[in-house]
This record gives sequence, C-alpha cells and structure tokens, in this order.
Amino acid sequence: MSSLNAESTAYRSALDVVRTVEPRVADAIAAELADQRASLKLIASENYASPAVLLAMGNWFSDKYAEGTIGRRFYAGCRNVDTVEAIAAEHARELFGAPHAYVQPHSGIDANLVAFWAILADRVEAPALRKAQARQVNDLTEEDWFALRRELGNQRMLGMSLDAGGHLTHGFRPNISGKMFDQRSYGTDPATGLIDYAALRQTAKEFKPLVLVGGYSAYPRKVNFRILREIADEVGATFMVDMAHFAGLVAGKVFTGDFDPVPYAHIVTTTTHKSLRGPRGGLVLCQPELADQVDRGCPMVLGGPLPHVMAAKAVALAEARQPTFADYAQRIVDNAQALAEGLLRRGVRLVTGGTDNHLVLIDTTGFGLTGRQAEQALLDAGIVTNRNSIPQDPNGAWYTSGIRIGTPALTTRGLGTAQMDETADLINTVLSQTKPGVGPDGAPSKAKYVLDPALADRIAKQADELLAGFPLYPSVDLG
Ligand code: PLP
Repeated sequence: MSSLNAESTAYRSALDVVRTVEPRVADAIAAELADQRASLKLIASENYASPAVLLAMGNWFSDKYAEGTIGRRFYAGCRNVDTVEAIAAEHARELFGAPHAYVQPHSGIDANLVAFWAILADRVEAPALRKAQARQVNDLTEEDWFALRRELGNQRMLGMSLDAGGHLTHGFRPNISGKMFDQRSYGTDPATGLIDYAALRQTAKEFKPLVLVGGYSAYPRKVNFRILREIADEVGATFMVDMAHFAGLVAGKVFTGDFDPVPYAHIVTTTTHKSLRGPRGGLVLCQPELADQVDRGCPMVLGGPLPHVMAAKAVALAEARQPTFADYAQRIVDNAQALAEGLLRRGVRLVTGGTDNHLVLIDTTGFGLTGRQAEQALLDAGIVTNRNSIPQDPNGAWYTSGIRIGTPALTTRGLGTAQMDETADLINTVLSQTKPGVGPDGAPSKAKYVLDPALADRIAKQADELLAGFPLYPSVDLG
C-alpha cells in the first residue's frame, strides 16, 4: 500500500470513529483541513506538521499520568512514557547540541515558566537553603520561608521591548512574568531598527538584572548571542534565550556561530510548533548546572506531562535531524528574503528594510492604514496574516501599525521564491487599494476600512490559483 493510501485510510477511519460519537466534531476537523488548504497562510508563528507528527498525537498515551521525569515518576506504570520522553529528549540534545533537554512543557509560555523558576531556584532559593542549612523548602522556619518568598518576588529581568518585537512572556505586566519580575526593556535603534547593543549594555549595567532574556516574536533580523552572553556575564545575569520563533533556523543550521543561542545561553526555551514544524508544545535546553532544577518543571509549574504530545515531539525532532530539514530551513529564509525584496520593489515600507530570518514586518503607516485595517483587508482577499506593533508604534498594541508575515508554512507547502514575488504583488495590491474608513460619527476609525469587494474577490481567486500548484497534505484524501 502506498503512503498516500495509508495516510488517507488512517484519517478516514479516525474520522469515521469520531463521527459515531459527535459528527459535528468530525465535520469540523474535516472543515479545518479544507480551510487550511484554501488559505494563503503567512502567519509567522504557524506551520503544517507532518502526518507522522499528527498521528503520533492521537493515541492512548493521552490517558496516562506521568508526573515527575524519566525514571522518577510520582505514578506507577510509566515505562512507555519514559521511552518516548527519553527519545524526544535525546533527539532535542542531538539536534541542538545541548547538554540537557526537557521536553514536557505544554507550550512556549510553559517552557518560559519552567526556565524562570529554574533560574530562581538556582540563583535565589538554593543559596537561601544553604544559608539556613535546610535541605528543602519544607525544612525552613516560617520566618525564613517568608523571607525567601519575598526575595523570589523581588528579582529583575531585562528583555526586548514589545514594540521592538519582544514577547509578552518576557516580563510584561499582562503576563505572569511581569507580575513575578521587576522588568526593564531594551529596544532598537530608531534609525536602523536594529538592536542597539551599546544601549542594551548600558541598561544592563544600570539595572543589574538577574535574568537577561534574548529572543523575540517579531524582530526580522539575526541576534548576536555572543554579545548578549558577554553582557550577561558583565552584570552577573543568567542568560536565557527564547528561540520559539526561530528554533527551526537553529535546527536547520541557518543560524550558526554567534547567531546560534545554544552554546551561549545558560538556558534556552522554544515552542515546537512554529518554524520547528512539530506538535503544539514547548521544550527547554540548558547547561548541566541547571538540569536538576529544569527537570522539576513538573510539578513545579506544569501539570502532568502530555505523553501523546511528547511522542509527537520525538517524531518531529527526528524529522528535523534529517538532512532535508536543513534544506527546508534555508528555503524559509530564501522565501522571506524574496518576499521582502518583492515588497520593497513595489515601494512597501519594511521595518529594518528587510529580513535575515523567517519573518517580514510591514509598516502599514506607509499605506495610511493601521495594522488592524491592513490585517482585515488582507483577510478579505484570502491572505491570512496578523497585525503587530512596530517600534515606537503610534497606534498602540491593539490597532498597531504593522503586519507580520512569515514563510515557514508556505515553505512547507512547497512555494518558492517565484511564488513569493507573486505573493508580494497580491499583498501590495490589496494594501494600496484599501482606504481607512470612518466611524458612525464621521471621525477617522482605526478599525474600519474600505476595500472594493470585487477586488478582494479577484485577489482571493489569484491566491487560490497560486496555491493550487502546491497542495497541502497531498497524501491525505478525505474523500
Ligand atoms: N515565546 C515566544 C517568543 C513566542 O513568540 C510565543 C508565541 O507566540 C511564545 C513564547 C508562547 O508560545 P505558546 O503560545 O506555545 O505558549
């Protein structure tokens, strides 16, 4: 039986089983595949996992509790969970050249929480225990425990500002990290849009953070992690990198030397579902001195592990160790650069004037639009993107003045640089034909816009034609 038939048979059978219990869910699953096949997906944080990854998730591992870590569980009967967790961790270590890997985090946020609390346990809790000659927190007096809790809540973090492309989990108030840490941000040089390493060093020297965070979700350039580690060492900070967005480029050896965070950071976190192309989830890599603290992630901040997702992570990490993945990673960047060049040639304003990675940030003020207006207009034309702040954004974090576009998903689908130029043309046509709208009182609106529906339909048709040559999940036929 060919692989096409095996995958189609697997999915048809699975949906038939679901349909016997709740047909609406089976229909929604099938409809989701149809929607994904039909959309020009330029969301920088999304991808398409392989059928092997997806199938590894739908099984009886989901039924198992396995709190603890490999070989040290709070539940009996975990030998098969131990097997998949060990395989996933081994692939992660080998893929990234890291001394230790922890593959339990359920998401990127969870991976960051594991990292933050591993750092706090190492830098704050362990010295307090030593000082009190206590083996563990339960041995502390009420007074020492109170003092330790106050100390844990009184630490500093330095991370990239949100409008420069940092992430909410890097110490911002709406997220738990901002409630845990006293946070200060570093940003980019207004003239170039690039990280201002001299200003960062100065801020670090003044602020003296316990944790220096590198990594981003909307910065279109390489980051020099050697310099960040030097700065961390100068001020006695633990250096953490959140490579959630660009882990695939590290895995595929597009980012090497100073641009590979793994040799430089004390601790690295990532999601597994963005450019890495695995299941939804997270993982943590670290130096040996933090390994014990990281392995306490469950039950420290995580609930029971998701063994079915760890199985899928193992499959995805095995895929990323294949030579073809390096080729995929390079094509992601080639495509992003072709998309950027196509936009620039058409006069579109880009933050930093281009890209070194998988994402491009369009400055929508060049079209007289907010990010929100641009995002919705593109959606009307079948182009799925998301709005994003740009440095010194005049429209705030809700309406924004940017559109973030990324190439991991379309690259998985097989689109190449020629199609990126066509994509740039579609985007430019929509945005240049969209006009800002007015609210009910006639005042300018940051949300309303005017786009001729006939034009939107024409672009959506062109997007369909572009995608038709690159079928998504070609081996899956749901009938
Ligand atoms: N870290 C960064 C840099 C991200 O971009 C994201 C998600 O967008 C996360 C963490 C959070 O990941 P998750 O949604 O899996 O919790």
